[in-house]
Amino acid sequence: MDNIKGILNNQKRYFYTGETRAINFRIEKLKILKRAIVKYENEISNALKIDLYKSEFESYATEIGIVLDEINLAVKKLRKWSKPLRVKTPITNFLASSCIYSEPYGVTLIISPWNYPFQLLMAPLIGSIAAGNCSVLKPSEYTPNTSKVITKIINESFNEEFIAIVNGGVEVSTALLKEKFDYIFFTGSVLVGKVVMEAAAKNLTPVTLELGGKSPCIVDKDIDIRLAAKRIAWGKFLNAGQTCVAPDYLLVHKDIKKELLNAIAKIIREFFGDNPKESHDLPRIISKKHFNRLIEFLEEGEIIVGGEHDKEELYISPTIIDNVTWENKVMQDEIFGPIFPVLEYNDLSEVITMVNNYPKPLAVYIFSNNKQVQKRILHNISFGGGCINDTIMHVASSYIPFGGVGCSGVGAYHGKASFDTFSHKKSIVKKSNVFDVALRYPPYKYKVKLLKKIFK
Ligand code: NAD
Repeated sequence: MDNIKGILNNQKRYFYTGETRAINFRIEKLKILKRAIVKYENEISNALKIDLYKSEFESYATEIGIVLDEINLAVKKLRKWSKPLRVKTPITNFLASSCIYSEPYGVTLIISPWNYPFQLLMAPLIGSIAAGNCSVLKPSEYTPNTSKVITKIINESFNEEFIAIVNGGVEVSTALLKEKFDYIFFTGSVLVGKVVMEAAAKNLTPVTLELGGKSPCIVDKDIDIRLAAKRIAWGKFLNAGQTCVAPDYLLVHKDIKKELLNAIAKIIREFFGDNPKESHDLPRIISKKHFNRLIEFLEEGEIIVGGEHDKEELYISPTIIDNVTWENKVMQDEIFGPIFPVLEYNDLSEVITMVNNYPKPLAVYIFSNNKQVQKRILHNISFGGGCINDTIMHVASSYIPFGGVGCSGVGAYHGKASFDTFSHKKSIVKKSNVFDVALRYPPYKYKVKLLKKIFK
């Protein structure tokens, strides 16, 4: 792993030349990245098709398009974001002005997973470039074709001393984590998130952890059933359920359960046809390991839709399982596949107690037209983010920060939040020499009374 040390030393040296700090430099590099992505758009799409059997539409909507959108916003807003922010100065600091400067951390490490292998490496990279850092990228080893195109884009567009890409599996990640980076941005599982945080703690390196968890989809009785069914099924089966913010399980009011499940079953047929295996719009499971893990979930509860699978093709049909309990395997961990267990409730208090009994979710989806219901859930359950009457779409906005809380993550990004995440906020008080308040200097003997008056 001498190569890693070499890359890091070169990047550190390059960072201190100050070149990456210039706003024009950052904007130019973002534009270069955009041009390369547009140039290789078809190759990215094809690679995603081979790695995950993603349709061209899904690849553009959830990977390429979202990244281009983030670049466009950063290019447009970077001058504004990077301006020192003048803030108020308290009377105790008389006579002075106060400013918050956004400065790059230095050399950042970005580690990404396989489920949105293009977007989840590129979106943080945009933040890192915008903030003026050098970056080392470690894509997932499970999507080799996408990683190959990304490697081509990065190597053709940038010098290694500015942005380097290191391919490989756990051993490469482990070697990278032994080094002292100035910031680590990790997207992946809760389990590996803990490994990353532990490694970062050894060097006191700040981290963002974009993790996962079980995100409930809560459906009240007061809704438009067909519309809700459509939005829920879309969010659940997008990327065959291999989405960190996918509705993990359904928590539905018992009065409308039957009707909602029938509606979701109908929508699944409309989306993917009578035989979803023949659909070009249903991605495959990433690996045999995940396939085997998922089909074990089919052994408990009552399958009311789907349940078909094919190991050779790593195919699992969109599946709904009713009569599930929290003791079942499917409810132990994040599902991360096209399997949707159903739990019912009678009263909203049960929902709140139930969800709060488990680690804080990355997302919660609330389907209800009742404002009181919406409010109660928002006020009583802590979670990363989510939607009211929709699924997933909060991730698709560059204007709101995206991230988890508790076990579902630390920190957030997207849009300006990405710039902020990759910038250290340096607070500076600039003092005037014209005037000097004597109060703070010893001897203090008679000054305490005045001090108390000021702070009252
Ligand atoms: P993962 O944690 O297994 O792997 C993520 C990255 O970490 C990969 O690059 C991998 O090579 C590396 N890695 C694996 N084991 C490691 C170790 N022991 N030490 C250091 N590095 C290691 O995750 P995954 O299976 O690729 O992705 C699925 C998970 O990611 C799910 O839990 C999902 O919820 C989560 N996820 C979260 C978000 C988010 O934005 N919050 C987005 C997508 C996926």
